[in-house]
Amino acid sequence: TKTAPIMDDQAPLNILRNTFGYDRFRSPQDEVIQTLLEGGDALVLMPTGGGKSLCYQIPAMAMPGTGVVVSPLIALMQDQVAALQQAGVRAACLNSSLTLDAVRAVESQLLSGRLDLLYIAPERLLTERTLTLLERARINLFAIDEAHCVSQWGHDFRPEYIRLSLLAERWPQVPRIALTATADARTREEIRGRLGLDQARVFISGFDRPNIRYRIHQSTGNARRDLLRFIRDTHPDEAGIVYCLSRKRVDEVAHWLTGQGLTALPYHAGLSAAVREAHQRRFLNEEGIIIVATIAFGMGIDKPNVRFVAHLNLPKSIEAYYQETGRAGRDGLAADAWMSYGLQDVITLRQMVDASEADEAHKRVERHKLDAMLGLCESVACRRQTLLPYFGEPLPEPCGNCDNCLEPPQTWDGTIPAQMALSCVHRTGQRFGVNYLLDVLRGKADERIKGFGHDRLGVFGIGRDLTVNEWRGIFRQLIARGLLTVDLEGHGGLHLNPSCRPVLRGEVPLMLRKETRPPKPSREPRRS
Ligand code: ADP
Ligand code: ZN
Repeated sequence: TKTAPIMDDQAPLNILRNTFGYDRFRSPQDEVIQTLLEGGDALVLMPTGGGKSLCYQIPAMAMPGTGVVVSPLIALMQDQVAALQQAGVRAACLNSSLTLDAVRAVESQLLSGRLDLLYIAPERLLTERTLTLLERARINLFAIDEAHCVSQWGHDFRPEYIRLSLLAERWPQVPRIALTATADARTREEIRGRLGLDQARVFISGFDRPNIRYRIHQSTGNARRDLLRFIRDTHPDEAGIVYCLSRKRVDEVAHWLTGQGLTALPYHAGLSAAVREAHQRRFLNEEGIIIVATIAFGMGIDKPNVRFVAHLNLPKSIEAYYQETGRAGRDGLAADAWMSYGLQDVITLRQMVDASEADEAHKRVERHKLDAMLGLCESVACRRQTLLPYFGEPLPEPCGNCDNCLEPPQTWDGTIPAQMALSCVHRTGQRFGVNYLLDVLRGKADERIKGFGHDRLGVFGIGRDLTVNEWRGIFRQLIARGLLTVDLEGHGGLHLNPSCRPVLRGEVPLMLRKETRPPKPSREPRRS
């Protein structure tokens, strides 16, 4: 005889099915929930849309008492609460938009144990009034959403987040869960340290987007034309986003693509709100629209069938690249992340960091982030295998769905030309930019070079064998690897870094990526 299954309304799986209407948990939701139910702390790193909310909503509902959710975004908080109430969950929020009567009602629900979830903004939570209120209530967990706001190095730093460490001190027995979509190792460690989560189990998942094909290449000198070819060849009449660094470039590229017969709309902070809204609406509602944008575009955009994201410049960090490319292929169907970048991007971004108002420590972090991004670009390994470890999710095998996997790049021993380039920088006094240096190397005896007497240097003309583009590639890779640094004064002069010595002395070979891709190997005809 069959025994009837035990029906427990409070079991996580039943809550998932009955309240939220889903069949099964996504990994690692069930493990996170179990950790909290057992009284442990958790740190959850999942990309946006990964399903973080259920990780605290379900245990808060499953345990007696109320789960307190700290969230910095009041508007999102209200949406979430409304959606939960719709599903029959006893949820409420405390924020500055409530009337005194509404606040009293929420407080009495909380104190009488008639509330599953209470959402509060951090600054409100940290008032003595709220803390005392919570002490009188039965709290079953604390969830700290957008936990990366505790990081001073991130772009979303919120000082009040640092004070959330007091939750651990005042409620040592209550499990805590911190959640974020920003998962680089530094942020992760900061969250653990600052929120007292040293004992927390860490869950990282879902960062891989297998349907996105990553392609990164050096600009051939005409990035716009490369982009047009890419769109025409692979995504005619499909929706896509093109990111550029400056507003001027956005306008120019949108205009040019339109002239080529595509529907490309600009989007940046310099346009009026009405224009931006109109362009965004068309992108969402019409088919085949291309948005050309600065990074201002994309926040909160959830269009499932974006077939490509193209970068005409280097993003400033791997996180930014991942965020921006992640807007492609939300529907799970094949999508492309395409990037074209050049030497000038590296120089411009370095200069932007150097010229910023930030203090030295921040600048150092920004430079590291840019270096990591460049490392990804110049890598000859699988892009995913380079990208995912950055989010704590290493990939054991090459992915088979990136440019480096599909068309393995060739490398060459660039030690000798690198030595020539480095000596040229040295001999000309470490104050000239790339264009001048490559003229010297290629032996162009113009007035300026003669004026400085650089036509009499030993390095003059020793690099005739290589083309201008090859030299540009070499300089870019030397900068990318930190052997050369771009001048602080903003004239783009290059100087040597101590790390270039082993290369100059010939102690280590410098393997460089070949600029031109080999043609795809054609398959051998099959014999049967
Ligand atoms: P995040 O907070 O990580 O950005 P959400 O918690 O808002 O993500 O979830 C993203 C979407 O995925 C929501 O529509 C949510 O309902 C859905 N979702 C979450 N968990 C599951 C699941 N186990 N099965 C199906 N859908 C889920
Ligand atoms: Zn790969």
